[in-house]
Amino acid sequence: MKERFHIGNIVYELTDACNQCCRFCYNYWRDGSSPIVTPSDALARKTLRKLLSQAAVGTVSFSGGEPMLLKNIHDLAMYARLRGSNVNILTNGTLLTSDALANFESLGIGAIQIPLLSADSGIHEYLTSLPGSWEKARTALWRAATLMPQGAYAVLVITKVNAPGVSATLKLIRDLGVRNVMVNRFNVGGNGIKNSDELALNPAALKQAFADVESFAADHPDMRFVSGVCTPVCVVDTSAYPHILFTGCSTDLNCRPVTVSWSGDVRFCNHSPHVLGNIYDRPVGEILSDPEVTARYAVVPEKCTSCAHRKFCNGGCRAASEQLYGTFDLPDPILTSGAGV
Ligand code: SF4
Ligand code: SF4
Ligand code: SF4
Repeated sequence: MKERFHIGNIVYELTDACNQCCRFCYNYWRDGSSPIVTPSDALARKTLRKLLSQAAVGTVSFSGGEPMLLKNIHDLAMYARLRGSNVNILTNGTLLTSDALANFESLGIGAIQIPLLSADSGIHEYLTSLPGSWEKARTALWRAATLMPQGAYAVLVITKVNAPGVSATLKLIRDLGVRNVMVNRFNVGGNGIKNSDELALNPAALKQAFADVESFAADHPDMRFVSGVCTPVCVVDTSAYPHILFTGCSTDLNCRPVTVSWSGDVRFCNHSPHVLGNIYDRPVGEILSDPEVTARYAVVPEKCTSCAHRKFCNGGCRAASEQLYGTFDLPDPILTSGAGV
């Protein structure tokens, strides 16, 4: 039997739709330019089967939009598990009932990630634009932490709006029993482009927010803190925060979240808007190995050519540059635009 192409991590976007409209949402289709398509259980299943027939995937992260809008999400998770993949669920938590969570647990889901943006319900719901979402997210996180202590992740997207309350938010997350926290800086894209003046932190404020996380992390060594969107070292010296694991950006296939949508479109990662091809036209391995694709991501921004941090940072989040400037060739917008400076 022919061996399947191997991919370390795939973000599988089950739908473009979401019941929230977060001010910071980086989904590139959330720029208001086109209507959002209703979820399709049948197409989400067909595309997953197609994808996993073409590639052996280490971890598939179900995302969107909001993946819990798919009525067959547990069947999809079971299918991916049977095909040998680990499965994570990236959800806003508002639709995660205790039954749904118990089903995930019995399927051996590795991680459930749920954003909790503030200890103040008003701030959380200002950012999500959904009344009632704070209590639901809080309850879902508590349930996840109770049932799957190792697999429950809180996600704190740090913006100008919620940064002053970072320590209180982390305390609430801890009180819910959660021990894993993603502390991601606001990364411009999608709906966040039009809200960037309101949300983007300047370097001094971002450093203060990370200092608050660092201080909390140092006091609670039983917790783990990961910053999941590359923060350029020339903007924030990440070595000042030893209790936060900062991830860099890599073009390596096995180190980045290759992204496939419900309709089969393949992209560099989940923040990138650029479609490289569709798995119904060509196998995913062929798309990702295409010399044109490799060349597109091999360009090094001029500013970064002699930087000592390039191997780790690679110009920061250049998917954000694709969203803002339409090119991967420029370094992270946080260096040059009102998005960060
Ligand atoms: S950030 Fe997530 S929960 Fe918020 S609108 Fe986007 S997809 Fe929905
Ligand atoms: S690689 Fe570029 S963006 Fe990253 S730290 Fe160096 S100069 Fe800054
Ligand atoms: S371009 Fe941005 S979102 Fe994509 S892998 Fe790099 S840091 Fe992550």
